[in-house]
Amino acid sequence: MKLVITEIFHSLQGEGPMLGTPSIFIRLGGCIEPLCPWCDTPYAWHEFREMGIDEILLEVGRYPGRDVVITGGEPFLQWESGLKGLHDALVNRGYRLCYETSGKAGIPEVQGAAIVLSPKHIDGSWHCSAQALQRADCYKFVADDLPSLREIDAFVRVHALDAERVFIMPMGATREEQLQRMETVFAFCRDHGYHMTPRLHVLVFGQRRGV
Ligand code: SF4
Repeated sequence: MKLVITEIFHSLQGEGPMLGTPSIFIRLGGCIEPLCPWCDTPYAWHEFREMGIDEILLEVGRYPGRDVVITGGEPFLQWESGLKGLHDALVNRGYRLCYETSGKAGIPEVQGAAIVLSPKHIDGSWHCSAQALQRADCYKFVADDLPSLREIDAFVRVHALDAERVFIMPMGATREEQLQRMETVFAFCRDHGYHMTPRLHVLVFGQRRGV
């Protein structure tokens, strides 16, 4: 069974509830329409290679630590075609798993992993099913201005999401874009009871990949 992999690397988790945690990242290739105009990993749409589960485990084993982030692209597109097998193999070897997903492909029943769902607001509507919202452990949103923060707040209220499990980060693939939006996101999160998360890897390294 082969998976489509864009990159595997070791770094610190740069955003969300596990911010700052040393982690091994497995980025699966391929995403699903509609694609996000602000996507910071568009290379994952078409840059990938096929790897077998043993090959992936070997690569993961080269790095220190037990925390593995499985991200994309949209990782759950490959759940049935190989990801489930990789998931079981990693859990059996004692790795702690965290999935990062847009929810655009739904979320399967996953045992033994945290799921961070990042619902996408594209062309005026949200692309995330009720099933995905229910199965996620926490929610990560990207905001670029006050209207987008208000859209997020309305979405959270409509779906009765727990504010304590909501993380909002400033949109921006460059350090400058991040810094420019920080103050607005900071004030909004403070006033509405949400967590704010920066994008640490962008603040430190800008657009560099695999860091
Ligand atoms: S879901 Fe993620 S990988 Fe896919 S287009 Fe949106 S931001 Fe990019």
